[in-house]
Amino acid sequence: MSSFNVAKFGGTSVANFEAMSRCAAIIENNPSTRLVVSSACSGVTNLLVELANGVTDEQQRRQVIQQLADIHEAIIVQLNHATETASEVYQILDTVTSLAEAASIQSSTKLTDHLVACGELMSTHILAQLMRERGMPAVRFDIRQVLRTDDTFGKAEPNVEQTGILAKELLAPLCEDSIVITQGFIGADDEGNTTTLGRGGSDYSAALIAEAVKAEGLEIWTDVPGIYTTDPRIAEKAAPISEISFSEASEMANFGAKILHPSTLVPALRHDIPVFVGSSKEPEKGGTWIRHQVQSSPLFRALALRCNQTMVTLRSAKMFHAYGFLAKVFEILAKHKVSVDLITTSEISVSLTLDQTDTSGGAPQLPAAARAELEELCTVEIEQNLCLVALIGNNMSDSKGYAKQVFSTLEDLNLRMICFGASPHNLCFLVHESVSRQAIQKLHKELFEG
Ligand code: ASP
Ligand code: MG
Repeated sequence: MSSFNVAKFGGTSVANFEAMSRCAAIIENNPSTRLVVSSACSGVTNLLVELANGVTDEQQRRQVIQQLADIHEAIIVQLNHATETASEVYQILDTVTSLAEAASIQSSTKLTDHLVACGELMSTHILAQLMRERGMPAVRFDIRQVLRTDDTFGKAEPNVEQTGILAKELLAPLCEDSIVITQGFIGADDEGNTTTLGRGGSDYSAALIAEAVKAEGLEIWTDVPGIYTTDPRIAEKAAPISEISFSEASEMANFGAKILHPSTLVPALRHDIPVFVGSSKEPEKGGTWIRHQVQSSPLFRALALRCNQTMVTLRSAKMFHAYGFLAKVFEILAKHKVSVDLITTSEISVSLTLDQTDTSGGAPQLPAAARAELEELCTVEIEQNLCLVALIGNNMSDSKGYAKQVFSTLEDLNLRMICFGASPHNLCFLVHESVSRQAIQKLHKELFEG
C-alpha cells in the first residue's frame, strides 16, 4: 500500500481563485496528500455539454465559448506567472471551438466526451500552477495515460486491471517527488479516444485512481461538510453524520444523495480505503468518514431523494401464470444496455425505473429500439416527473413496526412502487415531484427529529 492519500476537489471547490487557494491550503496542511484529482471549474461542464449537444447559431456558440474563457481567465489573471498556463488553457479552448463547430453539424457521444473532457483538462493546468506558486512541487498529469475504459462514450466502464498496471508504471512513481494534479471524470479507451465516466464522475475517478495507486485514504472535498441525515436545503434540521459504513453510504449514493457519485465507493470498498467527505469551504467543520467498521448502526440513518425518475410499466395478460416473461424483458433491456434501478411486479405487470443519466443529463430515456422490442411482448407505459425517496438504515428487513410509522406519516401522499425488504439497508418508493420535498420533510421530522 502506498503511504499517501488521494484528495478530490469538486467543481465548486475549484470555481475561482479563492476556492482553488483553499484547496491548495488543504493540500499543504496534509503532507500525506500526494495525488489530487480535480473537477472542471463550476459551471464549465454544463457549458461544454451545451456545445456538445450542438449550438447551430455561430454567434451563440461564440458566446458560450466566451463564457468558458471568462471563467478561466478570471483565475489565470490572479496568478503571478500566468503566461504559460494561459497559453495551455487557450490551446484547449481552441480545441473546444473546433469541436463545438463539429458538434453543431453532427453531434455524437464520442465527440461529446472529447469536448466535455476539456473542462478538467483546463482546471488542472491552473490548479497545478497555483500550487507551484505557493511553493509546492506540483505537476499536472494527464490521467488519460492511465485511466483505461471501454468505449461506451458518455458512461464508460473502467478497466480496473489495466488502470492498475498503468498507474503503477506511470503515476505512482511521480507521487514520490511531486504532488500530482490530475483530472477527474475522464479516461481513454484502448485506441486513445477520450471517454468520460458520466456526469459527476470525478468522485468515481478519484476512487478508481486511489485504488490503482493503492492509496491509504481518499478525501472527497465538496461544498457540503460531509453527509447529513438528509439534504439540509430540504429539511432544516438535517444533522451531520460523523461516521457511516460503506454499505449505508453506498445506499445513500445510489439513492441520489448528491454527495457522492454512486459508483465511488465500489473501488474504495474493494481495497478497503477509508473515504472522507468534507467541505473545502469549511474544512474546520470536519466531515464524514466512510469506513468498513463503524461504532454505531442505527435503524434509521438517513433519507435520500432522487428526482428525474423514469418509470416504465409493462403489462401483459400473457404474464399470468406464465414463466419466462421477466427473463425476456430483461434480455431486451440488457441487449440495449438499459440498466434497471427499482423493480416491482404484480401478476400481470411489472414496473421499473431506469438507472442514472449519462453525460448528457436529464431523465433517463428508454431507447426507442428497446421500446419497440418490448411492445412486441406487452404494453409499455412511461411516466416521468417522479422522485425516488429512500430511507436508509440498518437491519431494516428484520425490524418490525416501523413501516407503519413511515406510511402513516405519509398517508396523504400517493406512493408508487414501494420497494421494501429486499435490502436490509433501505425502504424506498416513488412520489410525484410536486410532493417530494414534503415527503422528505415529514419523514425527517418523524424519524430523525424526535
Ligand atoms: N465535471 C464533471 C461534471 O460536472 C465531473 C464532475 O465534476 O464530477 O459532471
Ligand atoms: Mg461535480
